[in-house]
Amino acid sequence: MTDPIRIVHLYPRDMNIYGDHGNVLTLFRRLEWRGYRAEVHEVHRGDPLPISGDILVGGGGQDSGQVLVEADLLARGPELRAMADDGLPMLLVCGLYQMFGHVFRSGGGQVLEGIGVLDVETVAGADRLIGNVVARSAEFGDVIGYENHSGRTTLGPEAQPLARVSRGAGNNGSDGTEGARRDNVIGTYLHGALLPKNPSIADRLISVALERRLGSASLRELDESTTEAARRLAAARPR
Ligand code: GLN
Repeated sequence: MTDPIRIVHLYPRDMNIYGDHGNVLTLFRRLEWRGYRAEVHEVHRGDPLPISGDILVGGGGQDSGQVLVEADLLARGPELRAMADDGLPMLLVCGLYQMFGHVFRSGGGQVLEGIGVLDVETVAGADRLIGNVVARSAEFGDVIGYENHSGRTTLGPEAQPLARVSRGAGNNGSDGTEGARRDNVIGTYLHGALLPKNPSIADRLISVALERRLGSASLRELDESTTEAARRLAAARPR
């Protein structure tokens, strides 16, 4: 029997807001439902990153949480950039999405340096962008979630948007983009949590992880009727 598929959860204490932990649970369960053993490896400040991680997940937080993790994250920058270059699937939400970019300039005047895994940069705006979001992706269909951020994120040439907003603000409220991608890294502003309501994104992360580990992946279809009901409900909510 193969070793469990290892989900690395980065900063679960400091960066975990609006249900982001649900992303980890979703990956874990969807692996188990397909007959794979999974385990969650929590990485707090100062802990080593496991070299044998299969999927890396990080959530959002307040600006104060970002200040707490900044130095620790910067020290891991070369390692995390190498993992991204090597094709490790990663999902970063909101606060950590910002910090996996080049920089976050906060409303309080702080300049938080990011690790540049994603070619994006973020500046806090005067107001917060809050509400339910529906964004369209050619690969994932309608991406549904909830946003709450002051940061306005702009994509550089090395980053592709995850989706185009049809409702909500997304990266910056002006260019219509939501989230960013490069290789197998996905950054997004969407909480809710994201993956329970967007199983196509969860399965993409899982497929890549299985292909990298086992050389191939064929994921059995799951009964998505509850998920579909949750998606319909979430998409119909007022902004
Ligand atoms: N502090 C960031 C912002 O408000 C991130 C917020 C979040 O992670 N929800 O832009």
